[in-house]
Amino acid sequence: MTTRTVYLETFGCQMNELDSELVAGALKALGYRFVPEPDHADVVLYNTCSVRDHAEQKVRSRLGEVRDRKMREPHVVVGVLGCMAERDGEDLIRRMPVVDVLCGPGELDKLPALLDNAVRTREAILADDAPPPPGLRGLSASAREIALQGGASRRSGTLAAAQDNLELLDLSRSVSPTDHRGTAYVRITRGCNKFCTYCVVPHTRGAEVHRPPDHIVEECRRLADAGVIEVTLLGQTVNHYRFEHGAAVTIGGLVQPQKGRSYAGGHRRDPFAGEAVTTFADLLRRIHDEVPEIRRLRFVTSYPRDFGDDVLEVIRDHPRICRYLHVPAQSGSDRMLERMNRGYTVGEYLEFLDRARAYLHQPEIGRPLTLAGDMIAGFCGETEEDHRASVALLERARYKNAFIFKYSPRPGTTAFDRLIDDVPDEVKRRRNNELLAAQSRISEEVSREMLGSTLEVMVEGFSERQRKRSESAAAGVVGLTVGGRSAVEPERPESGSVQMTGRTEGDLIVHFDVDRSESKQMVGSIVLMRVDGVSGLSLFGSMIDVDSPARVVREH
Ligand code: SAM
Ligand code: SF4
Repeated sequence: MTTRTVYLETFGCQMNELDSELVAGALKALGYRFVPEPDHADVVLYNTCSVRDHAEQKVRSRLGEVRDRKMREPHVVVGVLGCMAERDGEDLIRRMPVVDVLCGPGELDKLPALLDNAVRTREAILADDAPPPPGLRGLSASAREIALQGGASRRSGTLAAAQDNLELLDLSRSVSPTDHRGTAYVRITRGCNKFCTYCVVPHTRGAEVHRPPDHIVEECRRLADAGVIEVTLLGQTVNHYRFEHGAAVTIGGLVQPQKGRSYAGGHRRDPFAGEAVTTFADLLRRIHDEVPEIRRLRFVTSYPRDFGDDVLEVIRDHPRICRYLHVPAQSGSDRMLERMNRGYTVGEYLEFLDRARAYLHQPEIGRPLTLAGDMIAGFCGETEEDHRASVALLERARYKNAFIFKYSPRPGTTAFDRLIDDVPDEVKRRRNNELLAAQSRISEEVSREMLGSTLEVMVEGFSERQRKRSESAAAGVVGLTVGGRSAVEPERPESGSVQMTGRTEGDLIVHFDVDRSESKQMVGSIVLMRVDGVSGLSLFGSMIDVDSPARVVREH
């Protein structure tokens, strides 16, 4: 059998990036070969996002492009994975028969089988002597391989008793050193129960489930063994994690992920903490202590209401847990927060930020706390006063960066069904721009506060500027990447300095110059830098110490 080639493009959040990585690992193990361009791939996959209409539009336009190719090359199999597949369902194939495979985010373990069937179906269509399989109207018709959770995406309390096959996909993750240079994501929860009125995620990713802590720690250990030194734990409301061992269900020798019990939140300590429970604070402590090779432990995205002091204490007392929190507020107006069903007031949100700073902001020892947030501009019924309150919240929160979005009505959500999208698009755009302008000034101010400080920086690779310079000198040589950056610069004969890029524990980007001869071995290491320049959101540093012992000193 000839090797099938696959092109996989990912849209959306880190959860999708991780899903794509796991899917790619599973397909590679079956002999599929991944290619960087769609033009010659036998299988073209889009892992999609439905959070905003804009993300879906991009996928629709990609599908339009691939349709033209498929008219000429009907053997090509096209798959839509992720949230858009789940949200649109079979309607997507009816509208765009170029799509052969639909696979929701909760069904990705089934993808290899779906693809295999789809490839065979298309081969059968093309075989000269075989009649087209029933239901296929022509060469461009869909092979219709579908795995969606549909109505089952909000699985009930019986979930804990049902086998969760998706867990196997995470557990069978490939962790070879070449796949994971330096940094990796690890999922700790899936789905979401919050039902913010604007958001499609609870409908596409289903009910929140918590992975068994042993599986998570083991995955971190295997990643560390493969050379990973930075792990980012993922969950839609990551700090909501809790695993109750007494209620754990084992099927076929495998402990299953758990739906967990709902609770009101707003606590200062996990109310169920105890011997038979692994709280989020316990999980952070376990990974920190049991896998010390992971020198940076991060987590996204946090939900403000469920953030207890127990978690802040663990971060403060464990030096390898990063002092960086991504805690979206979404709006600075209590009226909007209520309409969004966020479950907290502006006052409570700001109280949390003050509490987090009191625990974690220690610039004097090179460990400032940095914060990131998300805001939505022009949600249903938002007045100028509400908007000004959002600008005021940015001023008060002083995020190092914020993801700011125009409200995009999403079919299936409560806001779509029950609220009126009454803010005209030009007003949304203007408010969005005003929030962006305010945040960009604040981000620069936060960066300036770092001037003169000494910070630990994890080296990711060559800077964009260096990469562009090098590309013209050595076109065609593809480098490895760490955290999306080029880790191996194409060979160049000259000596001299090169510009590299790294990140602080607070996720600030730092550029610095090093001698070319030292550059390669620095990738993936943590170095001590003095910040001596700022431009926009970027810091410029000079190196004080390679592979800083500072973290070790602070531990004692
Ligand atoms: N779970 C995270 C939380 O609650 O903070 C965020 C997950 S969501 C996929 C990422 C961001 O997309 C949200 O924080 C929100 O700002 C934005 N978002 C979600 N639905 C949106 C919508 N309908 N229109 C505009 N932005 C939206
Ligand atoms: Fe969406 Fe709200 Fe869940 Fe975040 S917490 S994923 S915004 S429903």
